[in-house]
Amino acid sequence: MDIVKKLAQERRARLAAERLLQQKQTELFAANKKLGAHARALSDDLVDKQAEVQQVRSEAQALAGENTRVKQNLAVAEFQVQVAERRLWNSIQTVEDGFAVFDQNSKLVLANNAYIAAFDGLEEMCEGISYPDVLRLLTDEGIIDLEGRAPADWREDMLDRWQSNALEPMVVKLWNGMYIKAIDRRGSEGDTVCLALDITDTIRYEARLERERLKAESANRAKSAFLANMTHELRTPMNGVVGMAELLGDTDLNDEQMLYRDTIHNSATALLSIINDVLDFSKIEAERLVLRPDPFDIAGSIQEISTLLLPSTTEKSLKFYLYIDPNLPGTYHGDSGRFRQILTNLIGNAIKFCPSGHVMVSATAVDEELVFDITDTGIGIEKSMCKHIFGEFNQVEDERNRQFEGTGLGLAITKKLIEQMGGSISVESVVGEGSCFTFRLPNRRSAGSTPPKEVPQYNIKAIVIEPDEISARVITNYLGHFGIQSTLLKTWDELTDEHQFEVAFMSDASQMAPPKGRLSEAHVVQIITSNRSSMVGISHPLSLGDLNHVLANYAPLPAPIVPVEEPVDDTPEDLRKLRIVAAEDNKTNQLVLRKMLKTLDIDLTIVNNGQEAVQAFQDISPDLMFMDISMPIMDGKEATGQIRALEAEAERDRTPIVALTAHSMEGDKDAILAAGLDHYLTKPLRKAAIHDKIRELTPQDICRPFPDESP
Ligand code: ADP
Repeated sequence: MDIVKKLAQERRARLAAERLLQQKQTELFAANKKLGAHARALSDDLVDKQAEVQQVRSEAQALAGENTRVKQNLAVAEFQVQVAERRLWNSIQTVEDGFAVFDQNSKLVLANNAYIAAFDGLEEMCEGISYPDVLRLLTDEGIIDLEGRAPADWREDMLDRWQSNALEPMVVKLWNGMYIKAIDRRGSEGDTVCLALDITDTIRYEARLERERLKAESANRAKSAFLANMTHELRTPMNGVVGMAELLGDTDLNDEQMLYRDTIHNSATALLSIINDVLDFSKIEAERLVLRPDPFDIAGSIQEISTLLLPSTTEKSLKFYLYIDPNLPGTYHGDSGRFRQILTNLIGNAIKFCPSGHVMVSATAVDEELVFDITDTGIGIEKSMCKHIFGEFNQVEDERNRQFEGTGLGLAITKKLIEQMGGSISVESVVGEGSCFTFRLPNRRSAGSTPPKEVPQYNIKAIVIEPDEISARVITNYLGHFGIQSTLLKTWDELTDEHQFEVAFMSDASQMAPPKGRLSEAHVVQIITSNRSSMVGISHPLSLGDLNHVLANYAPLPAPIVPVEEPVDDTPEDLRKLRIVAAEDNKTNQLVLRKMLKTLDIDLTIVNNGQEAVQAFQDISPDLMFMDISMPIMDGKEATGQIRALEAEAERDRTPIVALTAHSMEGDKDAILAAGLDHYLTKPLRKAAIHDKIRELTPQDICRPFPDESP
């Protein structure tokens, strides 16, 4: 090979090597550049990380500070909790009452000394003991006074209680006479917190109070019994005064003497009524007032009482309204005497405290109750006094009021009676406008009682001429019960040709005479709604019965058939006289009795005591005997006993014996009837009552004692 070729070859190889070198240098440069950029990025990153590390480090430092603070706080809190716990525990230990906590498994968790002390140092009584074991310790160790109960029974009851949801407080007695009240509460975790309160002092105090109360009550009862006896003793002479005054009225007296007699009679009757109030009150106080329920016509009673009290409203020119709901039971089961007393007292008060205006009585049957409203337009009662007046001897102490007489016992007695009947009483009143006393009684229809009276229905139209609104309402209401539609007019002037009617009810208050022409075919009924008495028309206060009577006579209805008793016409010529023996030790009463029977055609023998009565029974064989109960030598009950024995021995018929007595304490009547007496009359003796008894008890084959009633 030539040199040129070789040189060319070398030059080509050198050039190739130079190109390769250049390329490598370029690559190296690029790699260096990349490395530089990476190194720069790394360095930036490093700076960032260093900053981050710095921040984290400072945060860590801050946290370390916080941690120290929290730790310190925790330590303080822990310390405080310990202090609080110690204080609480110290307090619990200081408390003289027992305190314990049981966990949800009924194991004792903690108990204070007072709780443990009751167990008298028993080692078993410590943390971890179960509640049933505590109960066992209590009974087995005689810690509890079981007062005669079997230990197992007691424990069973206690466990039942422990397992119940509502742990009722209970009282237990310990062997040493201590009384512990156990109050247990379930906590949210199932724990039970137990408190054992020492209530020994309270129990002893209560027992002492109870003893004092019983003593006071017995003293009060003794006082009431004394009062009752006193009033009884007062009634006996008062009986003489009233009786004699009554008899005096039957004699010829001039006007002046009549005035004196009336004054004696009225004063004595008023005094008797006060004595009766005191007697009633002392009976209630002595818990000796017993109600005597019997079936009675309640509507009739209300009507009767209203009629009796009507004159007192007339004296004061008061209007009197009465409305009795026809749905009242036909017969009511209750103590009729006490019912009358309640109503008389309330209506009496309404009249007494009402100087002008009206008094209204209404009785309605509402569901299971009878509601009685006694309303007046009188002086009224302050609101603050409305409760007070139902207390004994309480009156509205006010100058206005003092002009009225009274003992302040009426409402106290009334309230007690109503409550004893299962009812209630209240009052609503506005001073200067009037009062409304409302009492409610349970609607006790008597067994087998008649339903409210059947009201016949009339297919007629009526007009009612009555200017007084209340009384017009009462009349139209009553007429509605008879199915009568009525148009109400104030005066006859309002009557026009349009008015259709077959009957006109015209109250005396309408004053004008009815126009002649229109009424030729109509029936005009005069109704008296003013308090004056009148011989014409339906008398006041209007009653459903009176209306019925008038309508029955007018309307084309079949008249009720009334059985007429055949007159007996077999009066033998020479019948013997009725023989009466009366035993009475008090001379005044003997005189009263003699005078009261003066006009009767009888053989009367009066004896002074029970012994004489027994003798007279044997000597005279009376048809009827009146027997006082309290008599010297032998009392009425013993005498009656002996008479009954004599009758049995001789197989004689029973002689009716009527007790005449001022004894009216409850139970007296039963005791008297149990002693063999047949009837019972209380003093003061009333001529009419005695005559009625004689009339009732005179045998058929004997001369009629009342001459003017002879057949
Ligand atoms: P008394 O009528 O004997 O004073 P009560 O117990 O019946 O006793 O009445 C107590 C008091 O209640 C009366 O004194 C009177 O102040 C008041 N009071 C009773 N009823 C009425 C009434 N209808 N209007 C105003 N006050 C009355």
